[in-house]
Amino acid sequence: MNQLTETVARPRLVDRFGRQITYLRLSVTDRCDLRCLYCMKAKPDFLPKSELLSLEELNTICERFIARGVTKIRITGGEPLVRRNVVSLIEALGQRIGHGLDELALTTNATQLDRFADRIARAGVRRVNVSLDTLDAAKFALLTRGGKLEQTLAGVRAAKHAGLKVKINAVALRGTNDDELPDLIGWAHGEGFDVSLIEVMPMGDVEARRSDQFLSLLGFREQLEQRWTLTDLPDSTGGPSRYVRITETGGRLGFITPLTENFCAGCNRVRVTCTGQLYMCLGRDGSVDLRKVIREQGAGALDAALDEAMAAKPERHFFDVSEGAAPAVSRDMARTGG
Ligand code: SAM
Ligand code: SF4
Repeated sequence: MNQLTETVARPRLVDRFGRQITYLRLSVTDRCDLRCLYCMKAKPDFLPKSELLSLEELNTICERFIARGVTKIRITGGEPLVRRNVVSLIEALGQRIGHGLDELALTTNATQLDRFADRIARAGVRRVNVSLDTLDAAKFALLTRGGKLEQTLAGVRAAKHAGLKVKINAVALRGTNDDELPDLIGWAHGEGFDVSLIEVMPMGDVEARRSDQFLSLLGFREQLEQRWTLTDLPDSTGGPSRYVRITETGGRLGFITPLTENFCAGCNRVRVTCTGQLYMCLGRDGSVDLRKVIREQGAGALDAALDEAMAAKPERHFFDVSEGAAPAVSRDMARTGG
């Protein structure tokens, strides 16, 4: 992929609430080889491929964000590694590390990671977040609607072998994996991986009641404290995780609590979908159509579009998982880019 080198300095991206946007999450596809129960429907309506931005267009958009002060980009999806040739985009963006970009990261289900880990590491990625909610193969198959645990574990091993720093992300699901989360944490810490637990968010119509799935991590932390010694850490990885150290395992555990402890005041991020929709908030509908801008007016018009987005970034989301509550937004997490 051609490297776009034009990086004329422009004003940084700051929203109406004084929050500087330094973190872009880029969804390169809405497709996935798994069907996690909390993420998407059994038969999702995937977008026609013709609607997707090319990898070159996605790269151009990233370039504009970097020129406007974004220092961290996370490639996500859907499952980013099922997008054909996505590694060429990762390699192009990797060239910008140390030249505007501090960090290029990836969120993946790891099913394809044994094929790609080495190349990704060579491209400059240092950290991968791997979504893994259970170590029980039967439950994994159930939760992902057919996934093979061993395939994901092989990907995790390949990432470790390639020198990538792995963080395990687990969505805490009441009555599904809450009883085994301590084992998952113990295993991950034994492997030298950080873990983040995530509260389920009411995004998209996923054929399951969020009120049934939701587990408060405030309450769960109290349970963990009966078992282990948790010490709050000031660490930040640029995302919403609040970290503790567990004395007994020696590892770090993060809590992502969009429901029980809103973290919007410190929001530093925006999301771009594979069709070029720029969402200023995960849980709200407003977006700016960067595909239209880039195709009808050219890359030079992106700056004005980013300014428009900053003026429209909402203060916060209003997730509600109580019984009968409608999803906060109709699009699911895979379409938005988790
Ligand atoms: N396929 C990749 C993966 O699973 O890591 C990347 C995309 S996935 C949408 C990104 C993250 O969003 C995963 O950690 C997943 O567990 C999380 N996620 C998906 N739907 C969610 C929901 N409704 N609430 C909370 N987290 C969710
Ligand atoms: Fe796919 Fe990730 Fe969504 Fe699971 S969470 S269905 S792996 S996009």
